[in-house]
Amino acid sequence: MPPLTLGIFGYPLAHSLSPLMYEMAIEHLHLSFRFQLYEVRPQDLPAAVQEIRAPGVHGVCVTIPHKETIAPLLDGLSEEAQRVGAVNLVHRDGDRLLGHNTDGIGFLRSLREEGRLDPRDRQVLILGAGGAARAVASQLFQERVLSLTIANRTLARAQALATRVEELSAGVKVQAVSLGGPEVAQAAEEADLIVNTTSLGLAHSKGGDDALPLSPQHIRPTQVVMDLVYNPLETPFLRLARERGAKTLGGLGMLIYQGAENFRIWTGSELPVELVRPRMEAALKEAAHGA
Ligand code: NAP
Repeated sequence: MPPLTLGIFGYPLAHSLSPLMYEMAIEHLHLSFRFQLYEVRPQDLPAAVQEIRAPGVHGVCVTIPHKETIAPLLDGLSEEAQRVGAVNLVHRDGDRLLGHNTDGIGFLRSLREEGRLDPRDRQVLILGAGGAARAVASQLFQERVLSLTIANRTLARAQALATRVEELSAGVKVQAVSLGGPEVAQAAEEADLIVNTTSLGLAHSKGGDDALPLSPQHIRPTQVVMDLVYNPLETPFLRLARERGAKTLGGLGMLIYQGAENFRIWTGSELPVELVRPRMEAALKEAAHGA
């Protein structure tokens, strides 16, 4: 039997780490899968979904810019994908294509295993209110945090996310504030966990410079500070948080752990995290030197 196809939908895909992660796992475990890049422009998404309905394609992971627009093109969504309103994994079940969202699970596993923090009854500040923030907020509500503050440049987007997560869970205090406004400072000082889900810091990997999502003066040594950006491995924000004594976590752990969950759903096998992680770190460092 020819190997089944797994792949990734996104645009652009030139710098994607997914092939490295999944191909290493497939080879290590001697599984009969191949991994394919599907560089899909937004206008070509319906045709690309039709293409993966062919027998022999087992599933794809989904990245920017398709995470939200792919949902109505599929045959069903997991509860988590419905809660988050976005899909990062498509899995064939018989002749149906089902959409899942594993970003929240990846985030939580990274927080627990690498950050040694259980978010239950904790106060959390999320910087940003985009797709990644939705997955993180939904997961944190399921873990029963004590309070959640969502700070975003566009206040209306933070308010929409706060309303959405409030509907999910009664009894958790949630507030939406403006990034850079006076309430952020107070929320930051009270927080046990601060998560940057904005793309600020990403420009650094291309030799550019971004503003910080939060002034480091509000960060304390007892806090855990996480940045979902994984390229560079340590953003300027994370470096400053580390220098202030906080426990810091980059986004690579979340990326690998959501990949591990995807791999488990697709193949039933465990992704060899210990093997994959150093190779992905090396690839990111190599790319940084080439930038
Ligand atoms: P998105 O939906 O486009 O949201 C982007 C967020 O960044 C919004 O809150 C946006 O604010 C904010 N932002 C962008 N430029 C800004 C600026 N100049 N100043 C202040 N805020 C700014 O993107 P996403 O899918 O949520 O992804 C966000 C980041 O998370 C990306 O860097 C992505 O690579 C990373 N991520 C990592 C993982 C992982 O596994 N580690 C998983 C998912 C995403 P406005 O609403 O005001 O525009």
